[in-house]
Amino acid sequence: MCGIVGYIGGQTAVDILIDGLTQLEYRGYDSAGVAVLGPSGARRVRSLGRVRDLEAALPKRLAGKTGIGHTRWATHGAPSEANAHPHTDATERIFVVHNGIIDNARDLRVELEADGVELTSDTDTEAVAHLIARSGADTLEDAVRQTLHRLSGTYALAVIDIEHPDRIVVARNGSPLIIGVGDKEMFVASDISAVVRHTSQVVHLDDGECATVTASGFRMFSADDARAVAKSATTVDISPDELELGNHSHFMLKEIAEQPQSLERMLSGRLDERFATARLDGLNLDAQALRRFKRVKILGCGSAYYMGQMGAAMIEELARIPADAEPASEFRYRNPIVEPDTLYVAVSQSGETADTAFAVQEVKRKGGTIVGLVNVVGSTIAREVSGGIYLHAGPEVSVASTKANTHMAVGFALMALALGRVRDLSITDGTRIVKALKALPAQIAEITAMPEEIDRAAKLLAEAPSLFFVGRVRGYPTAREGAQKFKEISYRHAEAYQTSELKHGPLALISPELPTVAIVPEDELLDRNVGALHEIGARGGEIVAITNPGVDVPEAKVVLTVPKSEPELDPILLMIPTQLLAYYAALSLGLNIDRPRNLAKSVTVE
Ligand code: GLU
Repeated sequence: MCGIVGYIGGQTAVDILIDGLTQLEYRGYDSAGVAVLGPSGARRVRSLGRVRDLEAALPKRLAGKTGIGHTRWATHGAPSEANAHPHTDATERIFVVHNGIIDNARDLRVELEADGVELTSDTDTEAVAHLIARSGADTLEDAVRQTLHRLSGTYALAVIDIEHPDRIVVARNGSPLIIGVGDKEMFVASDISAVVRHTSQVVHLDDGECATVTASGFRMFSADDARAVAKSATTVDISPDELELGNHSHFMLKEIAEQPQSLERMLSGRLDERFATARLDGLNLDAQALRRFKRVKILGCGSAYYMGQMGAAMIEELARIPADAEPASEFRYRNPIVEPDTLYVAVSQSGETADTAFAVQEVKRKGGTIVGLVNVVGSTIAREVSGGIYLHAGPEVSVASTKANTHMAVGFALMALALGRVRDLSITDGTRIVKALKALPAQIAEITAMPEEIDRAAKLLAEAPSLFFVGRVRGYPTAREGAQKFKEISYRHAEAYQTSELKHGPLALISPELPTVAIVPEDELLDRNVGALHEIGARGGEIVAITNPGVDVPEAKVVLTVPKSEPELDPILLMIPTQLLAYYAALSLGLNIDRPRNLAKSVTVE
């Protein structure tokens, strides 16, 4: 599920490949490799560790204008040089890079070994290289197609062949792959960030599609029957600068700081003050269609799931439609009942989260209506759904998501408003929410300007081996996301509870060694929340309270106040300090904030 880059054209391929792999580093990986076709044949270099280790292992001169590169996220076989991609066949004619998982790899490997093939890695991918080389087909394209027919599982594949140095053949099923169109040069990548420096013209492959890419163009065909597929390039509007760190110390901090401007951009043109509603034409659902839904079901993974929970609460409150969120990774496997009068919503930053994409397909197969809340324009989920809300957060590089989360929450607020206003949300309440949404960017700027207090709180939390995040009703998803962010980058155990549930069990754990971050909005539950915090204080537990101005939390060691919004939207603002708490805690622990261990930016495998 990590990265693929390919190049064919007039430049030295290896330079473009290394540059592209470096751009993909943020996604997390364990090893890297390249294969280049040059005047003296093929050359493959692989290395365990970082792209710079691969670079150091490269020979001084590595000529060749066609090549493929890969960063690997091991699924079959440990991270090692032998398991790193590209993989090749016994005669070292065919070279393959692969993202995804071949489910029947074990059978294929057994079959190849029975045929006398000596396998040199433990991977599923190596079988693909041997099968292509042994296919006996007349063309590389047919050899690839015949091999695809033998595979079950997910893949984005890029294949080169010593005998055809004028082409890269690519195929996709379930893992993202794009072609970048340049001037007399072409690129292949799993993610546009690897090509935006070279071109803004991209073609997205869909499942079941293959392509022959040459220096002068591409030809798309179906994996099934080789029939030509007509596709043209679209323009992506990401400037390479957006992927640079600038004068920030980390992408995570940069992205937290970007939120006021990025939200401003997201909201522009989407608020209708006259009718006190949200303009969401991209949903492709008119008022009548919106009125028809009796339930809303939100599907996402990780932070996107927590934002879905926050969104469900907003939808229930503002639109009075029963709504809930479920991890897409669970939903897709439990034979869900898909109802025609439920609105399904898929949430994903990358739009490539495999579990969410499969959940989308499951809903569609069973006749449900599914829309998306997606950041990356043109991504798999964005193309699969019948409509949606683009988050317009801009590229997010840090593995730990911050601004995309906030945009998801705001996207749900817009959806809740639009659903509410065609049902029974009054114009007065609509106006109240529109005003509050407009105020959010400036309010977030106020929060991101208070790092000193947050730093103090973060240091206190970083010392504890374990901590609680608590919140209730509207504040609970904020607590869950806060705990998630803290875990992801500080590697501390952080668990979220409903504040109301403390006394039903977890209170037993409270001690001076286990601090609690409490989400305490100034709303109708304030007294109850503060009461529960007394119980923590009375047992010696230290509290960092995230609350609104004027709220007194006597038990709290540190109080972080955020500007007051409307009650329905308070959870969004209360979340911002949790992003900063995680950041400053990881900073004080000296950890690799933008690339936390064991995690990948977008989880494109199961
Ligand atoms: N399943 C392949 C392997 O383990 C590819 C993993 C990836 O997507 O990086 O080598």
